[in-house]
Amino acid sequence: MALILIVEDEPGLRLTLTDRLKAEGYVVETRDDGIAGLDAARAHGYDLILLDVMLPGMDGFRVCQTLREEDVDTPIIMLTARGNVGDRITGLKSGADDYLPKPFHMQELLLRMEAILRRTKKEALAQNVRFGAIEIDAKAALVRRGGAEVTLSAKEYQLMRYLVQRPGEVVNRDTLLREVWGYNATPNTRTVDVHMTWLRQKLENDPASPAHFVTVRGMGYRFDG
Ligand code: CA
Repeated sequence: MALILIVEDEPGLRLTLTDRLKAEGYVVETRDDGIAGLDAARAHGYDLILLDVMLPGMDGFRVCQTLREEDVDTPIIMLTARGNVGDRITGLKSGADDYLPKPFHMQELLLRMEAILRRTKKEALAQNVRFGAIEIDAKAALVRRGGAEVTLSAKEYQLMRYLVQRPGEVVNRDTLLREVWGYNATPNTRTVDVHMTWLRQKLENDPASPAHFVTVRGMGYRFDG
């Protein structure tokens, strides 16, 4: 159920990684240059970032270093064709958690990702969750409604996950913005409301009168299972 950002400019590898990670049950977003990757990483609460080193716009070392300077502590695995020791050290010094030279075996990448996620994971759903007609399959990162798969965007998924993990707890918009959209988030709290509207349209029987993703006036939102 982890959300992964892939920053990779080579289309073939980006596609291969995306397909494989989705098949493994990850939710995946991609960017194809350093600046867009930095923007995405600083504004969203990803669980892990796969970051190429040689990127147009801004190289992976700078992206990583900038994120760490801004206190974005999302785990980062750097990917590069340059496998020498100097680069490995530069990568780790720039704040990366791991470093994998290309070409790599997909299985090795998956194992390293799992190891890092195990170490850092705070937010994964431990088990399947059911409410109303909705079933969240924790292992497969799938949401079903009356048995049919529901497609959620990465943000909708994260918003749902954050609230579902805190049943009965009122969470205010600023907290959601910080926890779901991340540090230095540019969107304002209106963004939270818009995504909540979309989430309700997909998960509530009556989106205008939600039974599970409830507005608490003047305070925020609450999930009722
Ligand atoms: Ca590259």
